[in-house]
Amino acid sequence: MRQFQFTYQDEESLRSELTKIRQWCNSSVISHIVFQLFTETLDEEMILDICDEITRALPEAEYFGCSSNGNIISGAFSELDVGIICTVFEYPSTKMELMQYALTAETESAVIEDFLQELDKKPWVTAIELLTTIRGMSMTTFCEGLQRARPDIQIFGGGAFSFDLYDNRACVFSKAGGMSESGVVFWLLGGEDFHVTSTFIAGWKPLGKTFHVTMSDGNILYELDNEPAYEVYSKYLNIRNNEHFFYNSLEFPFLYQHNGIDILRAPTASNPDGSLTMTSDIEEDVPARLAYGDPWTILESVQTDGRVIKNFNPEVIQIFSCAARRTFWGNTEVSKESLPFQNIAPTSGFYTSGEFLRTNGFLNQHNVTMVIAAMREGTAASKRTGELEIDQSGFSGKVSLINRLASYINAAFDELEQAAITDGLTKLHNRSEIQRRIDERLATGEPMTLLMLDIDNFKHVNDTYGHQEGDTVLTGLASMLRCGIYENNDDADAGRWGGEEFMLLLPFDLSYAKLAAADILRDFNAMNFPKAGHQTLSIGVTEAVKGESLDGLLVRVDQALYKAKHGGKNRYEVL
Ligand code: GH3
Ligand code: MG
Ligand code: MG
Repeated sequence: MRQFQFTYQDEESLRSELTKIRQWCNSSVISHIVFQLFTETLDEEMILDICDEITRALPEAEYFGCSSNGNIISGAFSELDVGIICTVFEYPSTKMELMQYALTAETESAVIEDFLQELDKKPWVTAIELLTTIRGMSMTTFCEGLQRARPDIQIFGGGAFSFDLYDNRACVFSKAGGMSESGVVFWLLGGEDFHVTSTFIAGWKPLGKTFHVTMSDGNILYELDNEPAYEVYSKYLNIRNNEHFFYNSLEFPFLYQHNGIDILRAPTASNPDGSLTMTSDIEEDVPARLAYGDPWTILESVQTDGRVIKNFNPEVIQIFSCAARRTFWGNTEVSKESLPFQNIAPTSGFYTSGEFLRTNGFLNQHNVTMVIAAMREGTAASKRTGELEIDQSGFSGKVSLINRLASYINAAFDELEQAAITDGLTKLHNRSEIQRRIDERLATGEPMTLLMLDIDNFKHVNDTYGHQEGDTVLTGLASMLRCGIYENNDDADAGRWGGEEFMLLLPFDLSYAKLAAADILRDFNAMNFPKAGHQTLSIGVTEAVKGESLDGLLVRVDQALYKAKHGGKNRYEVL
């Protein structure tokens, strides 16, 4: 496999590039020549002229391509409009075929049926690259249909775009089907010596609170936490509902789990009813979080997730990267995430309106993601490939500022979330939190005992030594509980139930809980407070019964405590 990558400058330089390829092909054993064209311009005449030039110079060559939001040539964002990638296959066993269909919401199911039937006749196919126009169309049923293809077939590709984010036009084209403003091109690849591997890299990190998708339909996201979805962008990101909404919100997509993997969805428009039109479908009743691009995370993902590409020892690499990533990094820095692959093998691709990848059998439409496909003919070359060297230096001020602010937000948010479930004085869980944990444990049906603690004659402590000394006794007991028996057990929990009452959840049966209660009585009594000296407490102990209600359990532990108080205090009682 051999690849020639260049950009279109003018007819003369195109001819000279094509002549070079012609000469190389004449002197080599080759099986297929395929041109891929990615074009920022929608100038149909210009594109067709280039295609004609290709056919004149190399009549046997196939070509296909699509309009794009920018091109990747030699691993880097190309400043020029049209990227031309010529891949020459050398193994006679390598097979390929181009198929093109007109694609609209109406023709979609017929297209899928026909394509799958054709695919059945081609058992040699091991990989499908697809280029498709998608804007304004839900691709969910398309993906669900296409994933019925034989499970061993890898599927990857990208959605056509235009350089102007607001231009809804896009096109795909091929030698097989000509120019189409609403279509899909499939490049089928296979043969015993043809190998392919594919993966995806996101690197966007969740930000702030988790929302629940309470209402959605296809790619319309109506409500998050029962509020109009647009409110989230307005309230948290101060993004206004105007003509810039798409551009402003692109870098803050929603992150959620679909088919077991992280999927990002960005809004493309906000609607008068407060709903959002998303880049693709997002289902109802799932948790979703806003996400932001974090340069370090992105580059780390390139290095770790990119390793499968490196280890594959490819001869060529293709990248389908979301237009939002180009907007995020800016033209001067976006190459940081694609250039490392050029060290491994010639890397090309384009900025998409959607990225497609089959993972674990499912064909997912991604957004804001980078899908990477690597190809090779023959066994893994013994040559050592380069390293995935990433350039962490000198992020622009904007990118590094976003990163720091996002870290700040996440830290502040974690603190707030923590504060909401923590008792201010003792720093133990507050009542609602410990109650939630008891309820959670109760639902599992696993062993649990509750210890309800109440300091004896605490009013007397306050009255005699002052409220502050009272607080010292409370915090003293709390830290004893924290450092004590439950410290080394993740499933044990302690909370302040109120006043001088505490609740301890132990993931054990009664025999252990009795020992724990005796230890607490002894250890608390051994504490020596500055003014109040030695104090005592009483404990109610009870074991949860499978299937019982939270209320029943809490009433019983309270009764056990009452019994301990009436039995003379400084003791535990079991009920
Ligand atoms: P018993 O042995 O029957 O439990 O008697 P007690 O005095 O401990 O119980 P009582 O319910 O009569 O009094 C509890 C006291 O705890 C009353 C209240 O002022 C005090 N208290 C509640 N919260 C706090 C607090 O945060 N700090 C301090 N210092 N005292 C508190
Ligand atoms: Mg009390
Ligand atoms: Mg008390």
